[in-house]
Amino acid sequence: MVTSHKAILESINPSTKEVLGRVPIMSKVQVDEIVAASHKAYEIWQLTSYKQRAKYVLKLRQVIAARADELAQLISEEVGKPLAEAYLSELTGPLDTCVWMVENAEKLLADQSISLSNPLLSSKQSLVAFEPLGVVGIIAPWNYPFSIPMMATIMSIMVGNTVIIKPSEKSPLIGIKIGEICQEAGLPHGVVEIVTGDRETGKYLSEAALNKLIFTGSVQGGQKVMAQCADNLTPLTLELGGKDAAIVLPDAPIDWTCRGITWGAFTNAGQACASVERVYLIKGKNTEKIISKLTKLASGLKLGPGTSDSTDVGPLVDEVQLAKVKDQVEDALSKGATILTGGKAREDLGGFFFEPTVLTNVDHTMKVMTEETFGPLLPIMVVETEDKAVELANDSQFGLCATIWAGKLERAECVARDLNVGTALINDCLFSHATPQLPWGGIKKSGFGRSHSYFGLYDLVNIKHISIDSAGGSHRVWWYPYGKAKVKMARGGIQMLHGKMTERPVGLVHFVGNMFVGPQSENPTGKAAMKPESEAAKTDANPGDKPQ
Ligand code: NAD
Repeated sequence: MVTSHKAILESINPSTKEVLGRVPIMSKVQVDEIVAASHKAYEIWQLTSYKQRAKYVLKLRQVIAARADELAQLISEEVGKPLAEAYLSELTGPLDTCVWMVENAEKLLADQSISLSNPLLSSKQSLVAFEPLGVVGIIAPWNYPFSIPMMATIMSIMVGNTVIIKPSEKSPLIGIKIGEICQEAGLPHGVVEIVTGDRETGKYLSEAALNKLIFTGSVQGGQKVMAQCADNLTPLTLELGGKDAAIVLPDAPIDWTCRGITWGAFTNAGQACASVERVYLIKGKNTEKIISKLTKLASGLKLGPGTSDSTDVGPLVDEVQLAKVKDQVEDALSKGATILTGGKAREDLGGFFFEPTVLTNVDHTMKVMTEETFGPLLPIMVVETEDKAVELANDSQFGLCATIWAGKLERAECVARDLNVGTALINDCLFSHATPQLPWGGIKKSGFGRSHSYFGLYDLVNIKHISIDSAGGSHRVWWYPYGKAKVKMARGGIQMLHGKMTERPVGLVHFVGNMFVGPQSENPTGKAAMKPESEAAKTDANPGDKPQ
């Protein structure tokens, strides 16, 4: 958590509420200067080869790996996540992205030739070239303060863009650390820049002259950023909130499913956009066993500071997040929910802690089933049928991820296809964000655009079409001049290529018969277009006008 004091942000350890450090809140002038420096660096950086850029990215990988302990420690201190998660969910994604990009970026972005089907275009060759866009802004959240901006940065610089990262006001020290490791990797000045500050600083960045902006954060933030990008028409990717459902089919393996859902709900204290936020348990002989196992697993999780090796669940990031979780629990209880374990804030532990909580007797009148929680709550709703589970899972303003837990995988795949989300995972959860080859992004209020994967790569480049014509001096049938013959030729051409099989020969005759009716034979003066239409019609006679 961070409080602002004049032009300084304070970074707070959420496990202890102690001040970890202070960073400047950058002004508009400072942000604009950094944007200008980034454009300047781009002039040179865009000219470097994939091989040259790969060297820097490999060096970056070495630096991250060498400083892994220091990074994991800082991540645990600044946002409170357990150390195991700081290594596994923050560092592996960027490290794997370095390797994937170095091995594949050039291949994935090699020129592509496109074959054209229309015979009129037979003298043309078309190709697509992928070129960098320019300066990419990355506005990042605090919940994955290293992996989210780093994965986008590695992909961006590898394709020849320069980058400006605006870390969250709740994790500014990690943002500064990213700047440090990029410097240590030897990246030229201006290729990766950091602007620290609050939402106002983010506003300055989103309104600046960027060539692309990747925003990851809340729906409200995304809506504002979209408006802020409108003036410059800055292309935007929005990675926003989620309310991810887990559907448990009656044949789901009990132990695997319960352990998976417990991790999906409580990892990062539930503060992941892809956390399991609600469970639909389809009634079957194992229903009670699954509920009691989930309750047992949740009550066994150890709450504590992120930096302790034995901690399973760390604190929430700040007071605001804690208040939101308390409010959702109170709302659910007032509407008839039952708490099976947890349910209380644990500020006696020194930070913004809340117990891992399992709730039943919940429904869609409750905030806990419809609004993003971003906390350690696991509400379970028992439903009669698979159709009902799908209907309720889709009854959401969000469409980020969903999980399906099942024995029969074909059945689970059918359910996955019925869910309105960007990612549907069967028998696992959350892992795919850290896997750079897999597309990431949502629909509905979870945002738009895709990051990671080759779809994300295409979002970071100008997809440029180049057409080469080798026809030399021959005439183009669609060029001027027009006239009756041209219309007949065009009509004949459409009939020839797309009409009923029986009409195609007639189309061919009209097409060919009018194709070579040049401007001279149609109107030797070439002035027909200047005449009134009725008069022009009288002089427009040509071979194609004969009655058929
Ligand atoms: P937030 O919207 O408060 O802030 C995110 C970032 O945007 C911060 O750096 C902030 O300073 C900046 N910002 C906020 N308002 C801005 C504005 N008007 N103009 C410019 N910048 C602005 O979100 P948060 O609390 O940091 O993050 C939590 C949210 O992020 C959750 O809703 C979560 O689901 C979502 N999230 C989504 C994904 C995803 O991939 N879909 C990943 C992580 C987090």
